[in-house]
Amino acid sequence: MHEVALVESLLESVHEQLREAGIVGRVRRLDVIIGPLSGVVPEAFRFAFKVLSPESLGPGCELVIHTRPARCQCQSCGAVSEIAELTYVCPVCGSHDIRLEGGRELMLQSIEVDENDPCGDPPA
Ligand SMILES: [Zn+2]
Repeated sequence: MHEVALVESLLESVHEQLREAGIVGRVRRLDVIIGPLSGVVPEAFRFAFKVLSPESLGPGCELVIHTRPARCQCQSCGAVSEIAELTYVCPVCGSHDIRLEGGRELMLQSIEVDENDPCGDPPA
């Protein structure tokens, strides 16, 4: 389950970003974008987060996962289709001459911090 490693690096980058921004407080909510072609299983990611986040961020941090469709552009018929999973065939004409766009992202979209709650990281 490589989601564990992904969550670990996500949590690391959360701390890094807060440190860089000089924000101290309890992280209440994280918004993450997971593309359908990223190979990340959202449920496994959520599970790993549930296991790992209390120690890293404190209890009760909410994880919100957004998925974003990928697109495939067909080089034969020109159709642009939104796809929810990896495909090698144009859904319109069946051509194999397609180009995939996007969908591989695993991105931290936003961090919500309660700065009035001092049980986060002490300032470095
Ligand atoms: Zn096509």
